Amino acid sequence: MKLANLEVAGEKFVAVVDAEKSVYWPVQALVPQFRGDMVQLVQQFGQFKGDLAPRGEGQPLAEAKILAPIERPLRNIFCVGKNYHEHAAEFQNSGFDSSAQNGEHAPEAPVLFTKPASTIIGPGVKIPRHTAVTSQLDYEAELGVVIGKAGRGIKKSDAMDYVFGYTVINDFTARDLQKLHRQWFLGKSLDGFCPMGPYLVTADEVDGQNIDVKCWVNGELRQNSNTSKLIFDIPTLIETLSAGVELQPGDVIATGTPAGVGIGFNPPRFLQKGDVIRIEIQNVGVLENEVGE
Ligand code: ZN
Repeated sequence: MKLANLEVAGEKFVAVVDAEKSVYWPVQALVPQFRGDMVQLVQQFGQFKGDLAPRGEGQPLAEAKILAPIERPLRNIFCVGKNYHEHAAEFQNSGFDSSAQNGEHAPEAPVLFTKPASTIIGPGVKIPRHTAVTSQLDYEAELGVVIGKAGRGIKKSDAMDYVFGYTVINDFTARDLQKLHRQWFLGKSLDGFCPMGPYLVTADEVDGQNIDVKCWVNGELRQNSNTSKLIFDIPTLIETLSAGVELQPGDVIATGTPAGVGIGFNPPRFLQKGDVIRIEIQNVGVLENEVGE
C-alpha cells in the first residue's frame, strides 16, 4: 500500500494512493473515526489496516499537492554515514571527512547522526541554498526506513518485523560545514535539507534489502547502486540503534548513500541554483527537487 500526505485547498490529510492510476482516497473517508497525521496513522495502522482497502473511484492525484510523507516526526531523523564501501572510499579520498581515521576503508560500527524535523521538505519544493553560510552543496540519495512499532533491544532476526515501510530521502549536505564542524550535525541540518517522499510504501510491497537506488543531477546518472550493498544492513542498523534507544512508530532511518556524490569527483561538483536532483528507488518512488535561492 502506498500512503501519502496531501494538501488540497489548504487542508492537509493522509491518503491511500494508487500511483499508477494517479488517484487517492483520503484515509478519513475509509476510516471515519481516524483524525490524525501520518505518524498517528503508523501508530494506529494495526487497528485500521483492514478498512484501508480503497473503495470507489478515488480522487485525481493531480489536483493534490504531495507533501513529505512524514512532515513532523516525533524526533530527529536517524541517519547513517559511510554505509556503502565505494562511498566510504570516495569520501575518505575527498579530504572532506574530518571524522575518518587515516587509511580507514570502512567504519567498524555504523556512523550515526541525526537531522532535525525542520530539514524536511516535500517533493518538488525548492531546496534553499543558504548562501550566507555555505557554498558547497551536495546530494545524497538514500532509502528511508520508517519504523512501525515500538521496540528496544531488537535482535537482527526480528528487526524486519519493526519496519512499517519505506520512502525516498535526499540527505542534502553542506560539505564545507560538515568538514569545518567535525560533527556532521550542522552541515546536514540547515532548513530544507531533507527532501522526502513522495510516498510511504508499506513493507509488504518492497524488499528493502534488495532494491536499486539511483540519482540523476540534471539528467546525468550520478548514483546507481542497490541496498544489498549496504555495509550495515537494515537489521543491523535497527539492532544497533534500538540497543539503548527505544525506537518508536514513525521514526525514520536514512540508511546511507552510495558512491557518486559531488565530492566523489575531482574536482568536486557542487550543486548550483537551478540544478535538479532526481532520486529513484525501485518500487518506492521518485523524488525530485531543484536547488532554489
Ligand atoms: Zn547520508
